[in-house]
Amino acid sequence: MKTFEELESAVRSYSRGWPTVFNKAKGYKLWDTDGKEYIDFFAGAGTMNYGHNDDTMQQKVIEYIQNDGIIHSLDMGTTPRKEFLENFKEIILTPRKLDYKIMFPGPTGTNTVESALKIARKVTGRETVISFTNAFHGMTIGSLSVTGNSFKRHGAGVPLHHSVSMPFDNYVENHDSIAYLERFLEDSGSGVALPAAIILETVQGEGGINAARIEWLQKIEELCKRWDILLIVDDVQAGNGRTGTFFSFEPAGIEPDVVCLSKSIGGFGLPMAITLIKPEHDKWGPGEHNGTFRGNNLAFIAATEALSYWKNNDFEKEVQEKAEILKTAVSTIIEKYPELNGEARGRGLMQGIAVEEEGLATEICAEAFQRGLIVETSGPKDEVVKFLPPLIIDKVGLEKGFQLLDDSINYVLN
Ligand code: PMP
Repeated sequence: MKTFEELESAVRSYSRGWPTVFNKAKGYKLWDTDGKEYIDFFAGAGTMNYGHNDDTMQQKVIEYIQNDGIIHSLDMGTTPRKEFLENFKEIILTPRKLDYKIMFPGPTGTNTVESALKIARKVTGRETVISFTNAFHGMTIGSLSVTGNSFKRHGAGVPLHHSVSMPFDNYVENHDSIAYLERFLEDSGSGVALPAAIILETVQGEGGINAARIEWLQKIEELCKRWDILLIVDDVQAGNGRTGTFFSFEPAGIEPDVVCLSKSIGGFGLPMAITLIKPEHDKWGPGEHNGTFRGNNLAFIAATEALSYWKNNDFEKEVQEKAEILKTAVSTIIEKYPELNGEARGRGLMQGIAVEEEGLATEICAEAFQRGLIVETSGPKDEVVKFLPPLIIDKVGLEKGFQLLDDSINYVLN
């Protein structure tokens, strides 16, 4: 059999870090072709919040295919599309007293971000967008231009314009990033352009599991209102319950103008994204933003089933309880291994340990893989060991995963 290296472009990445061939997955476990079992602390970078091959989602998708349901439909009206829209409104938006128009921007996280940037510029007639240090918003020219990662930007070949990067919360110790931003906005007109939008992740997933404080988010919203700037929350990774509530911004009580969701919105890994737009900003003309794969009906079926997790508060409570277990496990590791100089990061089931020594986090993750734990690094220098288990993981799974991590750290340090 040919290797991935022989067959694929040099751009391939995950198959390098985890050099095996995976072929089966269920819940929070994966198996490779040798039958070796792995605990999943990665969840497809936040796509598998409800676990791999959820029984009901699997059954509903199979039944739909067997009944000759329409698979692809562009954005024609179909039963699964209608059911998803109705359920999203009823289960997610209405109980949270949120009012948004729902848009299908294309199948990926990058697509929803791209649509959000466009609508902000269209609504305000302004060109630039403020984003934050270490932000990650996607790989197309627009979404990459608001991504604060020099390595990824290098992939575009030439410099990208139309965005201004501001310090994220706690980017510089004892530095008031809000005052800085406010001063910047006050200077608009003096050569500084007033932006169309501010785009942010409440917890930066790729940028190092940096969690913004609630007060910081509230102040950003206040600034946006004062300056008539649209607030875009990119909840592609932190949303869908990842941080303990369906939307990551709920604890802050803020109401973004635009919300980007993808990854786990498609239920169990089917490509799907939605953009939520406050009704007063829904200024698209019909067909102004289209794309062939906006109507993935298999994804709508799984996505509607996934919403049933949110019909009452039980799942939210469960996730929050597991987040506490994760937090304790993280601090236990940090205390047990003072050599790591570890720092706990994150919120909900999106946590990490930042380690000081360069290359150490990568070494730990590589060792963990050998022992059967899938865990990846995050941060501009890959300095954070990042924990992103499926939300359906149980206590046993979390404990088993942390035992493998503990053994790996012990091995790497000795
Ligand atoms: N926004 C955030 C916050 C993300 O984490 C990602 C993916 N890691 C994206 C956007 C881009 O999503 P996709 O890879 O599906 O284009």
